[in-house]
Amino acid sequence: MSASFTPPWSAKVLTLFPEMFPGPLKYSLAGKALEEGLWTLETVQMRDFAPDKHQSVDDTCFGGGAGMVLRPNVVDAALEHTMAQENKDSKRALIFLTPCGKPFNQAMARHYALNTKGVVLLCGRYEGVDQRVIEQWKEQGMEEVSMGDYILSGGEMAALTLLDACIRLLPGVIGKEESSANESFELGLLEYPQYTRPQVWKNRPVPEELLSGDHKRIEDWRQNQSMNITQIRRPDLWVRYLERMGRKQ
Ligand code: SAM
Repeated sequence: MSASFTPPWSAKVLTLFPEMFPGPLKYSLAGKALEEGLWTLETVQMRDFAPDKHQSVDDTCFGGGAGMVLRPNVVDAALEHTMAQENKDSKRALIFLTPCGKPFNQAMARHYALNTKGVVLLCGRYEGVDQRVIEQWKEQGMEEVSMGDYILSGGEMAALTLLDACIRLLPGVIGKEESSANESFELGLLEYPQYTRPQVWKNRPVPEELLSGDHKRIEDWRQNQSMNITQIRRPDLWVRYLERMGRKQ
């Protein structure tokens, strides 16, 4: 009997600029993991789905206004082609990157990394994508995700960010389990400050607790720092942390 094979987590990106991938991901843990086959990456050039000989993908906006809009038939044909190849048992999350989407966070990165077989990412450009094709695919489960309250020129940078955040959580990508477990947001708090050699730099010494060799003291110091920093810098996270702690007691 042949050993069962689990395909690696995989990403497919629908874009007008496939040459942007893997781009900066090559210079991170994600790039090394890609070389090692811990995940796979494919791109789909949406321009290939334009029906006319000029391969035009955009048109002016109904109602007037500056900028061009991605045509629904082009985006739909690219999505139809991509999703027709999806295996029903190992369907990936289909995500449209848009400033109107759900704000991305660590919990979502963890969900896509650990609870899905991978992601299919649709990148908009210009003024955006015709609303009708968005609605059509949302009815079939497409999610909308935002990288934050600012406008990027295209969905590609957002896709790269989402991929980087997910891939570092895949099993085997980060050497020691605890390296990601203590990072900011994983426990609902910002991370404590980190220090390296020299022990004193420009008259600034490393906090003495970290030099004590006393693991309990170091852990307590880090926990207190995390709590103080979160309380001061991110009251929104702090309130949620307290609520969670209250519920646990
Ligand atoms: N006119 C749109 C608006 O005001 O919401 C912005 C369009 S933006 C210039 C072009 C494309 O970049 C979008 O369709 C989307 O795919 C991507 N994009 C821009 N900002 C983003 C963000 N914060 N998160 C995710 N994707 C973003």
